Amino acid sequence: MKIRNDIAALLLALGLSSSAPLLAATAATDASTVATAPRSAQTSEYALDNGMRVIVKPDHRAPVVVSMVWYRVGSVDEVTGHTGVAHVLEHMMFKGTRDVGPGQFSRLVAAAGGRDNAFTSRDATAYFQTLQKSELPLALKLEADRMANLILSADEFKREIQVVMEERRWRVEDQARSLLVEQMMATVLKAHPYRQPVIGWMNDLQNMSVEDARAFYQRWYGPNNALLVVVGDVQPDEVFGLAKKYFGPLKPRALPERKPQVEPVQRGIQRITVKAPAELPNLVMTYRTPALQDPEHDWEPYALDVLSDVLSGNEAARLNRSLVRDQRIASSAGAGYDSVGRGPALFQLFATPTPGKNAAELEQALRREIRSVVDKGVSAEELERVKAQSVASHVYERDSMMFQARQIGGLEIAGLSHRHIDLFLEKLKAVTPEQVQAVATKYLVDDGLTVAYLDPQPLPAERPAPPPGGPDHVR
Ligand SMILES: [Zn+2]
Repeated sequence: MKIRNDIAALLLALGLSSSAPLLAATAATDASTVATAPRSAQTSEYALDNGMRVIVKPDHRAPVVVSMVWYRVGSVDEVTGHTGVAHVLEHMMFKGTRDVGPGQFSRLVAAAGGRDNAFTSRDATAYFQTLQKSELPLALKLEADRMANLILSADEFKREIQVVMEERRWRVEDQARSLLVEQMMATVLKAHPYRQPVIGWMNDLQNMSVEDARAFYQRWYGPNNALLVVVGDVQPDEVFGLAKKYFGPLKPRALPERKPQVEPVQRGIQRITVKAPAELPNLVMTYRTPALQDPEHDWEPYALDVLSDVLSGNEAARLNRSLVRDQRIASSAGAGYDSVGRGPALFQLFATPTPGKNAAELEQALRREIRSVVDKGVSAEELERVKAQSVASHVYERDSMMFQARQIGGLEIAGLSHRHIDLFLEKLKAVTPEQVQAVATKYLVDDGLTVAYLDPQPLPAERPAPPPGGPDHVR
């Protein structure tokens, strides 16, 4: 249910986001903050006649509102030869309609004292604004307008596709760790579209046309494929009234059939080496693991979540303690597992060696840590400590309205329910030492493993400048 530490930065290469990754956890050390974080307030759910869903969560601590429109379409819905089109369309969504000129969307939001942005992930594309509560109608009006009336001009597309290719160069081609993750995903998965990078392969971007973006828009951007999430100082019925007013008149689309896409069984260890300019080697070990499907009855995803916390949930966790502090073989090391998504879930270990150590030595060190969990398990005391911190950080996260909106939307997009958030915490608390040992034994095995080494090559004399808007720009 989360991605942590430096892993978050790496996995961002898989999704293009300006803010924290979905369901990311923040270390919670300040008990007073935890105490003031809201317990899960009641949400209200509505559906418009055209199929659009609306979820509202009041949070009255400040007179502001976060509004997010989620489309259940991401890179997972792209087909070969068209990778990257979901993200390109996200850029084009700021190019205007008949009533709102190119770039004017963000100017109108800013003029109202608000901020707006968007992101594209493997599972979804989302557009969001933070505003004073009285300005919510503006956000909804603008979003409804571009949901139905986007103008996709060939000229604007020609300019924007250059921006996106530059973004790809900067984010991926010039970043050794991003290249490593991209190549690794394309190796771990053979059939499932999670193997494709969200930003798309360069060749596909070079050959993309405005018609491709238009076809994608017409296929997927309808109210019946959208979810509005509003968190803030609002009354649910008022939000529903506004949603009805602005989105209600839009016609639903005939959405394409979504075929189930199940990745075939892995049949043995896979290894790749990626050569790219970098200062230090790097290592990623990826294991195939189950995703959360049935929040009530599944237990393995919760145990894997706790296992990742045992390994790297905090400073004192095993990988940091053993590899970084005691053995001094790694300058950083971590684990990550994200059980929530529309596709397969993966369990990953990451490490960067200290100067003088190589990736093979690190791999052996990581394997010894896994072996230790498999052979000796974890003590009840260690598990209680880890779980207490994990639960605290989950509660702490709710302090942010944006986080709440992202969490609600992310769960719904994955086919789960935001109503399960409290259940997740209960399930995490209930994980036993035996369960942690059992999932390590069952899933952290060589037959489901892909090992990716970064073999560092000499760095160019000059690092290219980031694209306008900085490294985190989204459009
Ligand atoms: Zn972008």
